[in-house]
Amino acid sequence: MRKNVRKFAPVLILIPLLFILTGCGQDPVTKSGMLLDTVVTVTLYDGTQEDLDAAFTAISGWDDRLDAFSDTSEIGQINSETPTVLSDEIYGLLKDSVTFSGTSSDAFDPVLGSLIDLWHIQDPEEREAPTQEQIDEARSHSGTNLLILDDSAKTAVLTDSEASVNLGADAKGFVGDQIKTLLEERGVKHGLINLGGNIVLIGGKSDREDFTIGIDNPFDTSKDPIATLTLSDVSIVTSGDYQRWFTDSSGKKYHHILDPSTGYPAESGLTQVVVVAESSETADMLSTTLFVMGKEKGLEFLKEIDPDGKIGAVFTEKDGTVTVTENLKGKFELNTEYQDELAVSWS
Ligand code: ADP
Ligand code: MG
Repeated sequence: MRKNVRKFAPVLILIPLLFILTGCGQDPVTKSGMLLDTVVTVTLYDGTQEDLDAAFTAISGWDDRLDAFSDTSEIGQINSETPTVLSDEIYGLLKDSVTFSGTSSDAFDPVLGSLIDLWHIQDPEEREAPTQEQIDEARSHSGTNLLILDDSAKTAVLTDSEASVNLGADAKGFVGDQIKTLLEERGVKHGLINLGGNIVLIGGKSDREDFTIGIDNPFDTSKDPIATLTLSDVSIVTSGDYQRWFTDSSGKKYHHILDPSTGYPAESGLTQVVVVAESSETADMLSTTLFVMGKEKGLEFLKEIDPDGKIGAVFTEKDGTVTVTENLKGKFELNTEYQDELAVSWS
């Protein structure tokens, strides 16, 4: 959401995390652009150029409204302490984020801006990590207890001038859901929205064919996908420690998913989490949260919030262990070239 750093966004994070592996349908139309601080691509199998243009106009509009660093955006106005009445949609997203933060015991924190700005993890460059003192200070200005929401007035007020709202972990999911609804209302039945690796599927590739989506190799994104997911009409969202990071002079790597309880990049043993859910907003919040929690705690948390087992997840640990939820049986397939490297188990 950070406009002034967009032009510096490294090539690595621009590479979509997931690749579309299927062949073409009947004359699909496609459009790409830089929005939401990432590469956005929309491909429609039964849509028109006008549908694509309408989708991009809408994404650009959401981008402006969600930008945490613009004084005129809805989120920016909260951060610059300008009293503002929020739109129903953005108030709803903020409310969802705060509620989910509580459910996740603060592993997910939409008021983590002070710490996110301190770490400023964007580029694969070499620099030093912030000091413990700086981290403690930034942590003291984070947390949803610093944000007062008023459901009837639709206002959000920060009680700490050093605190800020940052919806980097769920804004793309929210926008994905909005664009899917917009395109469906325009009559699109088969399409794929890719917001920097946050995938939203509209139906299948055709009435008879699912989409086949590749899961990035978290150990080396230039290599072939480690597995595929064959699915329709759901969202697939990935969080990983290889997406945005820097290294210090000793070679230690710091990535962009922060554990609010320590103030440091999460060290949960995971290198990647993929979440499959009907709602992209939910999938986005969850991918970040499960990454912070780690596999064991993450699987327990999933059972707690989704007792019917509707949400799917793929956890890849740094040691090459891949754990896939049972509800993805028949949909998840390991790429045979990794059979000796990766150990898959079901949970
Ligand atoms: P991405 O959006 O890069 O695909 P995520 O959805 O996992 O990946 O979101 C990571 C972004 O969310 C970070 O760049 C940061 O802005 C923000 N963030 C990092 N840690 C947390 C956290 N624990 N809770 C909420 N937001 C976070
Ligand atoms: Mg996320």
